[in-house]
Amino acid sequence: MSDVSATAIVEITNPTTWGRAGTAGWDKAIGAFLIVAAVPTWLHMNWIALEQYEGSITAALKAALAEGPVTFAFRHFPQFSLQALLGYAFWLLLQAVFYGYLPGTLCYGQRTPGGHLLTYTANGLLAWAITHALYIGGSFLDLVDPALIAKHWEGLLVAVNTYGFVLAILAQWKGYWAPSFSEDRKISGSILFDFWAGVELNPRFGKYWDFKFFHNGRPGIVAWTLIDFSWAAYQYQQIGHVTSSMMIVSVFHLIYVVDFFYNEDWYTRTIDISHDHFGFMLAWGDTTFLPCLYTLQVQYLARYPTYLTRTQSIALLVFGLTGYAIFRSANFQRDYVRARDGKCNLWGKPVKFIRCKYTTSDGKEHNSLLLTSGWWGVSRHANYMADLMQAWAMCATCGFTHFLPWSYFFFMSILLYHRSLRDEKRCHSKYGKHWEEYCKQVPYRIVPGII
Ligand code: NDP
Repeated sequence: MSDVSATAIVEITNPTTWGRAGTAGWDKAIGAFLIVAAVPTWLHMNWIALEQYEGSITAALKAALAEGPVTFAFRHFPQFSLQALLGYAFWLLLQAVFYGYLPGTLCYGQRTPGGHLLTYTANGLLAWAITHALYIGGSFLDLVDPALIAKHWEGLLVAVNTYGFVLAILAQWKGYWAPSFSEDRKISGSILFDFWAGVELNPRFGKYWDFKFFHNGRPGIVAWTLIDFSWAAYQYQQIGHVTSSMMIVSVFHLIYVVDFFYNEDWYTRTIDISHDHFGFMLAWGDTTFLPCLYTLQVQYLARYPTYLTRTQSIALLVFGLTGYAIFRSANFQRDYVRARDGKCNLWGKPVKFIRCKYTTSDGKEHNSLLLTSGWWGVSRHANYMADLMQAWAMCATCGFTHFLPWSYFFFMSILLYHRSLRDEKRCHSKYGKHWEEYCKQVPYRIVPGII
């Protein structure tokens, strides 16, 4: 045990305030309404810009202003397709069956504010592998058009959006009327805010079928690399080859997605699963926003190919892969040290940490530790910095002429910065003076020396 770990344990005086904010006034309700209205509109504008305005979001916005937003929306709104809707319904069913029945490792999440320690079955990697084997195998055997998803993108956009909204409504209804763990529920007093931020922390069917774990990972993240494959095939069908930019961004996405499923056990202890409630933000966000926005680079490249020089390709690969290495190592270190209760080395030295306690709403006290060495001693969210390095490299494959394919990088910068604020507020309520001590020892939030 290090000397830092011997820091005195300070009483937590306000034990049950470390979950999501409990109440919401008009300001938060209006904020929630604006986000729920604006983000789907943004997603549709991206599609319109890609289809009609050569990938220029500025040109699409100018046209919307010139024509008037209502006429513009009616003229360009994506069309419903029964085929796409049925295809998406089949997709959801297939992923639900894989989630429910494939063998996997039993793992534990983080203890909830209500004191529950939930179990999850991590079988995502197998589900991902089988799904890809079926689609890619089917393409090589000429049973499936590899560009099928790309060609039905318009109808799929309508289908995923509809499902995302319906799911968020159902989640709110379930949270109010049939909660799985009522101690972990948050009812803010504002229906709009509850819709956005969620009511239940861990909504479940029965004991094991976890709504949030399934929807956060499976329909959206399994689809991510399949969508990439399909747009790469679309590019091939259009121009007779796949560009190096398309290959590089697809490799970055592939690494990110496989890493996610390979470490699915770790994912149960991240903010999404441990702390965020299941509302529109996660339900619509993970089923709709994620597969549509995170794949913008391949959607762009398939229609408007970018050619990179060999030097540019190597530089992007080195930068993106370095980002991945830091990302994985930082995320690994926290779990590794906590699992060994700090009795281990990092970077060849005994690990340094602050030992702390927190209390759950059942009044029980639990031990924890805050790591102050390794990546967690470089900055308080070095894993976010590494994520942004990867995001930068992914977007840079599209060149610097258009804003649209860079949406992912700008979105991630805002998301992760805002997430760090939210997380630190919660950690402060949970760990009190120990968190303040951590901030003193590790003064930078994300990028050392800058922020
Ligand atoms: P983290 O995995 O960074 O977890 C934050 C939690 O870690 C805190 O709430 C606290 O939880 C614990 N913690 C904080 N400081 C320390 C410390 N010094 N030592 C030990 N534990 C500490 O958060 P996220 O879930 O946001 O991120 C996980 C990964 O997912 C990141 O790499 C991020 O970049 C990525 N991500 C990707 C997104 C995407 O859309 N592509 C979206 C969001 C995240 P506790 O209560 O356990 O103490």
